[in-house]
Amino acid sequence: MYMQKRVLVTGGAGFLGSHLCERLLREGNEVICVDNYFTGSKRNIAHLLDFKEFELIRHDVTFPLYIEVDEIYNLACPASPIHYQHDPVQTTKTSVHGAINMLGLAKRIRAKIFQASTSEVYGDPDVHPQPESYWGNVNPLGIRACYDEGKRCAETLFFDYHRQHKLRIKVARIFNTYGPHMHPNDGRVVSNFIVQALKNEPITIYGKGDQSRSFCYYEDLIEGFVRLMKTGDEITGPINLGNPVEFTIKQLAETVVRMTGSSSSLVYKPLPADDPKQRQPDITLARKHLDWEPAIQLEQGLEKTIRYFDKLLSESSD
Ligand code: NAD
Ligand code: UDP
Repeated sequence: MYMQKRVLVTGGAGFLGSHLCERLLREGNEVICVDNYFTGSKRNIAHLLDFKEFELIRHDVTFPLYIEVDEIYNLACPASPIHYQHDPVQTTKTSVHGAINMLGLAKRIRAKIFQASTSEVYGDPDVHPQPESYWGNVNPLGIRACYDEGKRCAETLFFDYHRQHKLRIKVARIFNTYGPHMHPNDGRVVSNFIVQALKNEPITIYGKGDQSRSFCYYEDLIEGFVRLMKTGDEITGPINLGNPVEFTIKQLAETVVRMTGSSSSLVYKPLPADDPKQRQPDITLARKHLDWEPAIQLEQGLEKTIRYFDKLLSESSD
């Protein structure tokens, strides 16, 4: 018999958080969504307000939260470089103070807690593809450090709470994920390219476009989240979640232009500092412990994402 749980999702009005809230509600849980709307939006969760089991709280995770729940998914943190670099001190606070507050809450109420960590803990990797055992190559002083080191410190806190306070933890290292509910001005590559292509504006490739990423569609990722949360206490992670099929940024630009039938040209802009040259998850552990691997390949996911942005842009021009 399925037991209804009360689940807290921080960052629940963001891209991934809103899809996670929807999935948890559809499974029959009570969901409490916490967000300060820094990069998230009420639009992403407007359709969930009809569920009587859904509750929304405006709250900044850098401040303590007192609430009774069975499980916590900690997703609150801006994920796009332009947004997390906008106020880097606040980004570190969100990752570190946010983790301390959510872990403190989990400890008090003995809740199971999930952390949305990132492939950025590997920095600009010199091991390829990246297994969880790789310690990474992060510049601790660079412009990405507020995010990378904040997330690394959050992982440290999760494992110390696990060792010291026997907390049940689940740490996922998420690789580039895309899909509907990304903000049109989010600044990450997939949403930028689709929005530019739909507006027939130049596609902005940073550097030569020979750097690579591996893109996962959100539905696959959310399935991975839920499977990880359901594992036994012996599985703590970190576990990589992402699609191991790798593309260069130029290939992505060409694919988006072709799929949208756009007249956009490709323009080349300076490569931001510390931009990782390559990234591909080794998902051996996810296959083994979660029986999980992505099912949706790039063009399928792009098709749905393009349709979403097309609708969004036509509504905003009405
Ligand atoms: P997003 O920016 O759409 O969502 C983040 C959400 O957190 C937003 O709703 C934002 O308003 C909220 N938030 C930010 N600071 C907060 C604070 N101090 N208090 C409360 N809420 C706050 O990004 P996303 O892609 O949905 O990412 C969700 C999580 O997954 C993040 O922790 C991110 O680091 C992680 N992640 C995402 C990806 C990806 O490719 N999407 C990759 C690696 C890691
Ligand atoms: N990028 C790009 N044009 C854009 C946005 C991003 O060429 O308009 C590049 C960026 O330099 C990086 C890759 O696309 O090499 C992925 O960037 P994103 O910000 O999506 O995520 P990252 O993996 O770098 O955190």
